[in-house]
Amino acid sequence: MRKLCQIVIAAVCISVCSFSQTSLQHVDRIFVNGKIWTGDEARPQAQALAVAGDKILAVGSDQEIKALAAPDTAMVNLQGRLLVPGFQDTHLHFPGRSVNEVDLHGTETLKDFQQRLSDFAKAHPTLPWITGHGWGYSAFAHETVDKKYIDEVISDRPVYVLERDGHMGFGNSKALQIAGLTSATPDPPNGHIMKAANGEPTGELKESAQDLIFSKIPERTIEDEYESLVQHMDEAAAAGLTAVQDAYTSMKSFPVYERAAAANTLKLRFRFAPPILPTEADAAPPKHKLERPLTEADLDSYRKLRDTFQGPLLKMIAVKGVLDGTVDARTAAMFEPYVGGGTGIPFWEQDDLNKTVALYDKEGFQVLLHAIGDKAINMALNAFEYAAKTNGTSGHRHRVEHAEVPLLSDLPRFKQLGVIASTQAMFASPDATVLQNFSALLGPERASHADSFKIYDDAGAVQAFGSDWGVFPFEPLPAMYCAVTRMTPQGTPVGGWYPAGRISIERALLHFTRDGAYATFDEKVRGSLAPGKLADFVVLSKDILKVPPDELLTTKVLLTVMGGKDTYRDKTFP
Ligand SMILES: [Zn+2]
Repeated sequence: MRKLCQIVIAAVCISVCSFSQTSLQHVDRIFVNGKIWTGDEARPQAQALAVAGDKILAVGSDQEIKALAAPDTAMVNLQGRLLVPGFQDTHLHFPGRSVNEVDLHGTETLKDFQQRLSDFAKAHPTLPWITGHGWGYSAFAHETVDKKYIDEVISDRPVYVLERDGHMGFGNSKALQIAGLTSATPDPPNGHIMKAANGEPTGELKESAQDLIFSKIPERTIEDEYESLVQHMDEAAAAGLTAVQDAYTSMKSFPVYERAAAANTLKLRFRFAPPILPTEADAAPPKHKLERPLTEADLDSYRKLRDTFQGPLLKMIAVKGVLDGTVDARTAAMFEPYVGGGTGIPFWEQDDLNKTVALYDKEGFQVLLHAIGDKAINMALNAFEYAAKTNGTSGHRHRVEHAEVPLLSDLPRFKQLGVIASTQAMFASPDATVLQNFSALLGPERASHADSFKIYDDAGAVQAFGSDWGVFPFEPLPAMYCAVTRMTPQGTPVGGWYPAGRISIERALLHFTRDGAYATFDEKVRGSLAPGKLADFVVLSKDILKVPPDELLTTKVLLTVMGGKDTYRDKTFP
């Protein structure tokens, strides 16, 4: 009800006031002498804005805004800088990597690997297990790993560290001993215990063999999740993010967010989407196939979450399902075979999917479906269409997550059905994996419109950008560079990877702001800068709407404000 009132007040004022202002409230801060890109069609440009409490009170010229200041109103001189709505990441995975794990990304030599491990062990003397993630084979002699490399630096505590993509890892002797792995241990189904010529396990485990060690590692604690949440919120605020959609919320994470809300430490607005079918395996894909009919109890637990989390900070209105895998692993479900064979496997039967989506749709939930291959995207659209017809519903803004390789003939269905394309700008970064694996597996016809953001814009679909962080970084500015140039930060390939898919900087900005808010049913309260909306915005070091696209890579976030409070301030910003 309160929300409704604010909107009404704002609407009345826009039509009657000489400039946009809600009502006579105390102005806490004014931001003047800037270039404000509002994302609001009623007033796209402004110089200044006024903040009262957690909301924007007015947007206007310097003169208009200064006139609202009380004697104790703080004034921020933007010095001509660009101020835009706070960025929303519409698909990522919080609370993210544990802060109590060693980060091994970018280790290029054995020495470097060992140094990071031993530094971490010294800094965390009480951790019973040392775990980590991110090494690559190229750091090791003959591209081969061995327990001795860890034993040399840590032998008194068990250690297990995952390779970059997580399908394998290796541990030290202590870890093998705890897991009871010896030369006599046989390979489990779908897994390998790597062994040396003498039959001794080397410490390296592949696929399901990793479970032999995972089962011995203590479960992640709520405390650990909370610490990770706090740290990653800081990093996200520094990137200009003010809202994020968690795209697969584990039921056990909700208390972590509640704790942050109670402690007043939230620096982002979170939108949640627990799995379509609550199974214990929600942290361990690929167990997405419907295994049992949904019960009333399942639904009831989700209704309760929706009643509890209604925003504006924490909100749960969506559920998330997964229909296929990825192109790189050839598990994205395609109509036609990959170059080299295989069409991937959809995780659902169309009939099951239709019924399940219809059930959530009838309950008023928004349904998010991970679908990457054209077959999976087609199935998602079919299910949304079925649900709307069966239930006579509309406006539920169901979403296809990733939507990487659609059938061109399916594009108009997004607009027709009101389905949102929830895409990831960084996925179009033409690095070696994209060019040599992703693009090659699809073949030129499909690759030419894969991760093409232009095709969704041209089809009139609402498109919201996300990152899929922890897989990719969540910084929106380099992601915009990618959507705009379709080049790597190094400027390759020259001219861009299938440049017909490029979009303008302003479009990319809309997908990270206004369209994101629409995708989470928040456009009436945020996503653009107008009186009555939440004071969520970012000040940038450069005018990204004017500079050449490569300067997106050197543009800095100077200030991030969420709900009127600074969540990040660069030290160079006054
Ligand atoms: Zn994801």
